[in-house]
Amino acid sequence: MEAARIKVTIRCNVCGEKFVLRGRREKGWIDTGFKQCICNNANDLEIEEHSVF
Ligand SMILES: [Zn+2]
Repeated sequence: MEAARIKVTIRCNVCGEKFVLRGRREKGWIDTGFKQCICNNANDLEIEEHSVF
């Protein structure tokens, strides 16, 4: 079965930068390839998930 395709909006709570990424929802987590923000913040992030139809 193919993993669900989703769009993810990631907002950095440190510098306020926003990233819109396409990802896949795997079992229990979201794979977007996102590593960290341009300000090196990798933990204090607000992640919003949208389904793509
Ligand atoms: Zn940032």
